[in-house]
Parts: sequence; C-alpha cells; structure tokens
Amino acid sequence: MPIRPLTFLPASVLRKTAEPVKTVDDDIRQLMDDMLETMRHEQGLGLAAPQIGQSLRVIVMDCSDEDDPDPMIWKMANPEIISASEDTASMEEGCLSIPGYRGEVTRPASVEVSYLDETGAEKTMQADGLLAACVQHEIDHLNGKLFIDYLSRAKRDLIIRKVTKDARIDRDG
Ligand SMILES: [Zn+2]
Repeated sequence: MPIRPLTFLPASVLRKTAEPVKTVDDDIRQLMDDMLETMRHEQGLGLAAPQIGQSLRVIVMDCSDEDDPDPMIWKMANPEIISASEDTASMEEGCLSIPGYRGEVTRPASVEVSYLDETGAEKTMQADGLLAACVQHEIDHLNGKLFIDYLSRAKRDLIIRKVTKDARIDRDG
C-alpha cells in the first residue's frame, strides 16, 4: 500500500468540488487503502482524496484511541451530511494540507452521514464528539472548503499569505 504525496495549500485541487464516485471498485478500494496508509504516516485523524491530488469524493478516518479495543476506522465514498444538530461544539482543528497552523472551529456537535462503504453498500453513521468534527472537516474538503474558512478573515488571510509565501520559497529555492 503505497504512501501518496500530500497536496498543500495553495494547491487549486483543495479548492475544487470533488467528483462523486460512480462505482466502488478495486481502484477506489486501493485509493482508500493508500489514503489510510498516508494518513497514518502523517499522523492525521482523517484524509480526503483531494489532499493527495485526487478530485474524488472519498474520505478515510481513524479517530480511535491508541488503546481503544474497538478501533474506529472509516472508509467512505460519497459521504453526505443528512442531518446536523442545532447545538454546536468548538474544537481546535489542524489540517495535513496546512501544516503548522491550527484554529478553533465551531460546528454542529453531532451529525448523521450517509455514505458508501468499501464494498459499495449504502450506510449511515451517527457521529458526535471528535468523530463529528473530523467527518465534517473531511466532507468540507470534498466541497473545496478548509478549516481556515471558519476563522476570522484577518486570521485566514494571514495563514494564506504565509503558506503561499512558503510555497514560493520552496519552489524558488
Ligand atoms: Zn484537512
């Protein structure tokens, strides 16, 4: 299962609406496995396909504790939020595509998500706590949205300016 290179802000694929998966076939299953491998290598809790340059509606997550007897590993195609709670929760979020930056994001505290699993079966998931924040963050990626979009304009602009400058330095130097 190869680890795939990550894409970073300001890559345009991170701002595109990703394409729905037509069928969950071997290619999609391979993509899911590679994404899990890449996510673990980078020590992330979740990863969306645009973060490895694939504009497809696929996400993976592993929000379990190290000593969790029942690990929560999720592989999802075409995930969609079908209901969200009115009460909200705030959590500090980061993103593998925006390394070095974190910010407090307020989202619905719990959500219900429909998706296709790795066999193509239609499933729903009820999420709260960390998992709820994680799945909303990853689904945002499929819609070209990033956690920095929830921050104040000043803070967001500062982060974009800094990472764009860093990217230029990387390219030129
Ligand atoms: Zn992210």
